[in-house]
Amino acid sequence: DIRVRFAPSPTGFVHIGSLRTALYNFLFARNTKGKYILRIEDTDRTRFVEGAIENLIESMEWAGIKHDEGVFVEDGKVVQKGEYGPYVQSERLDIYKKYIDELIEKGHAYYCFCSKDRLDKVREQQKAEGKVPKYDGYCRSIDIHEAKERIANGEEYVVRLKLPANKNIEFNDLVRGKVTINTNDMDDQVLMKSDGFPTYHFAVVIDDHLMEISHVVRGEEWLPSTPKHVFMFETFGWEAPTYVHLPTVLNKDKKKLSKRQGDVSVTDFKDKGYLPEALDNYLALVGWSPESNEEIFSMEDLIKEFSFDRVSKAGGVFDKDKLNWINGQYIREASLEKITNLAIPYLIDANYISDKDVEDRYDWIKTMVSTVKENLSYIAEITEKVELYFDSEVSPEDDEVVDTLKGEQVPSLLAAFREELEEIEEIDEEFAAGVIKKIQKKTKVKGKNLFMPIRAILTGQLHGPEMVSIILVLGKQNILNRIQYVEN
Ligand code: GLU
Repeated sequence: DIRVRFAPSPTGFVHIGSLRTALYNFLFARNTKGKYILRIEDTDRTRFVEGAIENLIESMEWAGIKHDEGVFVEDGKVVQKGEYGPYVQSERLDIYKKYIDELIEKGHAYYCFCSKDRLDKVREQQKAEGKVPKYDGYCRSIDIHEAKERIANGEEYVVRLKLPANKNIEFNDLVRGKVTINTNDMDDQVLMKSDGFPTYHFAVVIDDHLMEISHVVRGEEWLPSTPKHVFMFETFGWEAPTYVHLPTVLNKDKKKLSKRQGDVSVTDFKDKGYLPEALDNYLALVGWSPESNEEIFSMEDLIKEFSFDRVSKAGGVFDKDKLNWINGQYIREASLEKITNLAIPYLIDANYISDKDVEDRYDWIKTMVSTVKENLSYIAEITEKVELYFDSEVSPEDDEVVDTLKGEQVPSLLAAFREELEEIEEIDEEFAAGVIKKIQKKTKVKGKNLFMPIRAILTGQLHGPEMVSIILVLGKQNILNRIQYVEN
């Protein structure tokens, strides 16, 4: 049976690369009718952040990446579901204790009493000699009875993996192919820390085994650690899972996408108003390529098409422009209603509209959104796109607009427009649809000479959304103000 897991550490920050790891696990599980598990790896207590688990699960839910088993949030509470729990590593300490004892007994692990001071010195020395720093094996030969006595006397200790000398460790990675590494190039990894918590390396092996994980799908930064894991599987006499190491998500400059370079967390993208379907669609393409040249994929299509054969070894470049293009496609495809509802919080935040407007003038908001929907890359952009409707005066965008407004026909256009407005209480659709024709009749100005100045009067620009909607959105008083502004 296919069983995969996403096993984040709750640091309070979900990197976009983690979302992609989760997505690939999810796609593979759905594609193979397997199970997708969410496990929390919280054994590094120094990195623990309050509320991080909730935030993480919320991000996954928002992205539509649903797991079948593990840790969930229900009614604001963290709960666990499944036959293989607990799924939170800090609740599994007695399990790790049992297996570490077994490993020590078998002679594949040993107690180490080295102080941080000593370890630092050894490392300095090795560096000075131009060697790759690693533990020098000082405590390897301590007799087990002596070690137990020292522990009973209260001495601090860790447990380390006892690697055999000069042994090749081999495994097959579905993306990387065959990987071989010699134990001489590996370190006696700490498996249990002095605080009684396992290290990631130990807990991951125990859990992947006990949870019957068939495929470990994770970022390639874990590739160098995998031989240690494989070695432990061997010593326990367990079958190791199949490994799939995913290429790192890179910046345009081919460096690891990092916090310093702007948006990298799932929350950043959510807050900017990216549509989760679009983000998933784009992320799927960072490191995986479909057989066809298509670029727009629903989740359903991704599930059908996805396979590890087409995951590349080389890092996947995260291209914001491409994401924006894809997201723009999804915004155009979405209903006006949906985009309006997504846009409303941003418009309220910018003080362009109030809650009352949402109640009383929903259609007006919708019309406003309709004028910019085609040109949005992400929803937060709406505030700058609709700014022109809320400026108390519109200044000409450039010299061309200035020249247009100096045209000899402009005074009569302004006068005619004003006359029409004065005849009505407030602008309605009928008025908006007919007023330009009426101005044309009155002034005998037509075509470009009519449309360009009117657009310039209303928006300070020569290009933009459809005029009928602009007139509707602006309303009577705003247009009168703008006419007056140009007249002066
Ligand atoms: N807890 C690890 C992380 O935060 C998981 C690595 C793995 O999937 O084995 O990336």
